[in-house]
Amino acid sequence: MRQTNFHTHTSRCHHAYGEDEEMVRAAIQNGFEVLGISDHTCWKYDSDFVAHMRMKLDEFANYKDSVLYLKDRYKKQIEIRFGLEAEYFPKYMDWLLDFCIENGIDYLIFGNHYYGTDEDHIYLGGAKGEYIKGYFDTCVEGMKTGMYAYLAHPELILRDTGGFITPEIEEGFHRICKISQDYNVPLEFNVLGMQHNMRMGYEEYPHTKFWQIAAQYNVKAILGMDAHRVGDLDQKLYNLALEKLSKFDVEIIDDVPSIDYKKIKAEKIKVWQK
Ligand SMILES: [Zn+2]
Ligand SMILES: [Zn+2]
Repeated sequence: MRQTNFHTHTSRCHHAYGEDEEMVRAAIQNGFEVLGISDHTCWKYDSDFVAHMRMKLDEFANYKDSVLYLKDRYKKQIEIRFGLEAEYFPKYMDWLLDFCIENGIDYLIFGNHYYGTDEDHIYLGGAKGEYIKGYFDTCVEGMKTGMYAYLAHPELILRDTGGFITPEIEEGFHRICKISQDYNVPLEFNVLGMQHNMRMGYEEYPHTKFWQIAAQYNVKAILGMDAHRVGDLDQKLYNLALEKLSKFDVEIIDDVPSIDYKKIKAEKIKVWQK
């Protein structure tokens, strides 16, 4: 198994720290063979909304320049991939698809942080009431689009909840795993969340119960460091996460295919325009 990571942020999202190059050097020093950089994507909003947790549209050019520069500069030491972490915002998916094509994005990972669009301010981490169903519906619809290389932190609904799993959440976990299996969208074992679990002394995400459910399906799992600072690319954390994930009966993969966004557009297999 190659040591790889496709979930890496940069300071442009306003809650990650350090220089891009420091991240790449940390990845090399910590034994990563492939580093996918996948900062929180910008969106082109209809409104004048400014998101606080992602790069702005006009910051993207610098992000692209930096990732492609580092990819070339360090190509003998590490393989760098050019990605983004994106939500599923149906009204903006046409824009996102074109954006991925225009910019040669290798892959998106699916971070299902907000319901609808983030202009509506409905954060899905630890969401309550009707948004529990909303979280799972959005996961399922997003995974069906073919736009995403994998689903990041599938148990995000447990964030800041103490990890208490209601029957509704348990059922939702089954829905995610079924779609992961049927549409071949791998599920992420989130290592930043694992660090949080270790600090708190209980599990939110990743959660044992979720991975026990996942093991009942034919799903693929992938480690994601979700690095927001250089310390998150620690090889010891990677190894510990791999050990934990290996206890569940799921296939662990170390790579994701690049996604052919041109093909998605050409074949008009977009499901958000049904
Ligand atoms: Zn983040
Ligand atoms: Zn992330």
